[in-house]
Amino acid sequence: MIEQIKALALRCGFSQVGVLQVDTIEVREEVRAACAVNKCKAYNTNWSCPPACGTLAEGEARIRAYKTGLILQTTGALEDSLDFEMMITIGEEHGEHIASFGEKVQALYPDALVLGAGGCRRCEKCTYPGAPCRFPGKMTHSMEAFGMVVSDVCTDNKLPYYYGPGTLTYVGCVLLV
Ligand code: SF4
Repeated sequence: MIEQIKALALRCGFSQVGVLQVDTIEVREEVRAACAVNKCKAYNTNWSCPPACGTLAEGEARIRAYKTGLILQTTGALEDSLDFEMMITIGEEHGEHIASFGEKVQALYPDALVLGAGGCRRCEKCTYPGAPCRFPGKMTHSMEAFGMVVSDVCTDNKLPYYYGPGTLTYVGCVLLV
């Protein structure tokens, strides 16, 4: 089953896909604390991000219900370390891969939990906080919202996080069973 879902993820455009053992995931309070600093400008703007996504303990209870999943990476090439345009483009491509894969995998495994990079972007404008989420079963959380250190999750599952000078990698994951 994992091999089939891995092949599906690669068809959806991810550059690298690796097996994720959920018991390797450490949930860390300092990652959530970093969300509140709001460097990404998503804090308190979206149902999928803190504080609306629930407490760290609630998030941990959700992920511990799974045993296995996949790490999903989108890697792109930058002209130099100031190539912000390409950084945004790679991030957008990763978001498209997550959205496309999420639709397909949840059609096969409705309980699959798909985590991306950054807050949910399914709707042009999130309904938060004035109205309920339009697609509660399909919103995409970030790995950080669940307290995960993305580089540690990759390393602990023997998947590189860095692919050399001039590259940038965005990471997501899916928890399957
Ligand atoms: S699905 Fe839409 S309303 Fe729900 S969290 Fe995502 S962007 Fe917001």
